[in-house]
Amino acid sequence: MINKLLIANRGEIACRVIKTANAQGIKTVAVYSDADKNALHVQMADEAVYLGPSPSKESYLLGELIIEKAKNLGVDAIHPGYGFLSENAEFANLCAKNNIIFVGPPASAIEAMGSKSAAKHIMEKAGVPLVPGYHGDDQSEAVLKGAADEMGYPVLLKAAAGGGGKGMRQVWSEKEFSQALNAAKRESMASFGDDHMLVEKYLTRPRHVEIQVFCDTHGNGVYLFERDCSVQRRHQKIIEEAPAPNMSQSVREKMGEAAILAAKAINYVGAGTVEFLLDEDDSFYFMEMNTRLQVEHPVTEMITREDLVHWQLTIAEGKSLPKQQNELTLTGHAFEARIYAEDPNNEFLPSTGTLCLLRTPKENDVVRVDTGVVEGDEVSVFYDPMIAKLVVWGESREIALKRLISALGDYYIDGVSTNIDFLKRVSSHPAFVAAELTTTFVEKHHDSLFSTISLDAPNDDTHANIPAMALLSLLNRKVSGSNKTPPVWSTAGAWRANANHTETLTLLCNQEEVHVEVKHQRHGTEDAWELSVGDNSYHVKGKLIDRALQATINGYKSTFTYSDNDGVFTLFNKDTHANFSIISASLGDDSSDGNDANFSAPMNGTIVAHLVEKGVLVKKGEPILVMEAMKMEHSIIAPHDGSVEEFFFNPGELVDGGATLLAFSAKEAAEV
Ligand code: ADP
Repeated sequence: MINKLLIANRGEIACRVIKTANAQGIKTVAVYSDADKNALHVQMADEAVYLGPSPSKESYLLGELIIEKAKNLGVDAIHPGYGFLSENAEFANLCAKNNIIFVGPPASAIEAMGSKSAAKHIMEKAGVPLVPGYHGDDQSEAVLKGAADEMGYPVLLKAAAGGGGKGMRQVWSEKEFSQALNAAKRESMASFGDDHMLVEKYLTRPRHVEIQVFCDTHGNGVYLFERDCSVQRRHQKIIEEAPAPNMSQSVREKMGEAAILAAKAINYVGAGTVEFLLDEDDSFYFMEMNTRLQVEHPVTEMITREDLVHWQLTIAEGKSLPKQQNELTLTGHAFEARIYAEDPNNEFLPSTGTLCLLRTPKENDVVRVDTGVVEGDEVSVFYDPMIAKLVVWGESREIALKRLISALGDYYIDGVSTNIDFLKRVSSHPAFVAAELTTTFVEKHHDSLFSTISLDAPNDDTHANIPAMALLSLLNRKVSGSNKTPPVWSTAGAWRANANHTETLTLLCNQEEVHVEVKHQRHGTEDAWELSVGDNSYHVKGKLIDRALQATINGYKSTFTYSDNDGVFTLFNKDTHANFSIISASLGDDSSDGNDANFSAPMNGTIVAHLVEKGVLVKKGEPILVMEAMKMEHSIIAPHDGSVEEFFFNPGELVDGGATLLAFSAKEAAEV
């Protein structure tokens, strides 16, 4: 029996495991590093123990320390998640030695699959189909190249110890072989401390299809169907789906049986994934077996309605598999999109920073968000930059895909670069919609996926958003006046109405300056503005509610989510996002003097008195209005000679910070 489970991991997978443990009444212990002190997984667990500094080598990879902490806390079992210690045979052994259940396969199975070449020998013996290639011990260049020449180019060089697409090189001709081999060996040595290489026939249009298997300690094994993970960047998965589109029932069964054969060949126990390459003629080849729960396991959960972590825990307790093969059914279709903090336009370079805005789609039975972060968290340099996994289900692939696209449209993140727009482009690409999937999908459709017109470019979309941007600027001024004034407002000292009640707002949208003429109006208690941008005019009003801009623009209502990242605003809606900043707020055509005038309420307060009459000349420096806020009186001073054209509030009225209090006319004063 497992009563207390330690999760030797962090982020979304730690949270995911905690959820099932909670549902099963199992107590949970989280572990954390310095960077994760306040992380979600730490908050979700019943107990949490500190491991050490942020680098994984000094915290999450310290197997002995984790075991020591587990023993101190009376933990029965350790779930390793994926990554970190999950495929570390030594750690599995260490758990066994200390009478702690390792929620995973026996160390011997991890070892057997730890080397791609050793795994191939085992699979060859078991009769599992392999990609034609060389996986021998003789590592001389002559032998490796001889094997490549014999099978014909292109070939793929692969690090035997490899993972995560590292130590891999395609070789397209005999001439390139030597250089590619050296590069692959160097990379493998640097990443895995081993430069043993495999040579494989390089399939030019394969699909990556993998089978989820489960085996118990009683010799039973089942497969929970397949996942298609063909859409990859740098040999790493981005969007996964289940079932594999257009896969016949007979291929599914054959592949499922081959996967069970593979698992049985190493006396497998627990959750495992057998990865295959599926060629155009339906032949398939074993690639490798991952001896852990995969990142993309939720798509399998969606189509089988099973909880795979529950299965893992059941098996770890020594019980039989929850279901037999003939009791498992496949229903509907599921997608997973991995939301990464990275820049697709800069070779998917990871991006770090604070998640100053993090809005996720609404979760329900068919939309699931697996994440380990909340708004305000940091994406640090220390760990994988995956922010979340967005998982959706539908009765058919078409329905599921629509939901995926829609949910991606409701995912708003600011503070780091993300791949969300890229995921939107992939998932709505005609070839993806038509399920024309191969592992070269991203390369093949490169031009349309990495459109040179970025969403922030000055295209029609951006211009369409200008009234909303201006409205946000105006409303935000009001709100920010009520608490602290952000830098942009403190520099924009000239907010006031001139003779024509107009001011010019200059926005910077993707390096283009856009001038917006703003005329303030007031309908009862509601502020409204007339905007002119070039030849277009807009009547705008709206509200800001918790990072949402509810805008009415020429009678058309729409809602945007917005973020303010140090003065750079981003407006998001389902289809697009647009960045802008406010360069200045000036006095329109009246720029002679008095640009330091400010007729906005400095904070929430009450109007005490009008000190002058409307239309009567006042001298520069004379007080014209008094308001009270926070038990102190504030006077609004005439910036220069002129007259008050309009008071927007009467004595006794409450005003919001930032609200424009009056219209002041300089010109008239000059004429008087
Ligand atoms: P890693 O363990 O580094 O992730 P894999 O062996 O799982 O490496 O392969 C990763 C990806 O590389 C596959 O999903 C596939 O896209 C591609 N790949 C691997 N082997 C071949 C091959 N023989 N031909 C074509 N593509 C391959």
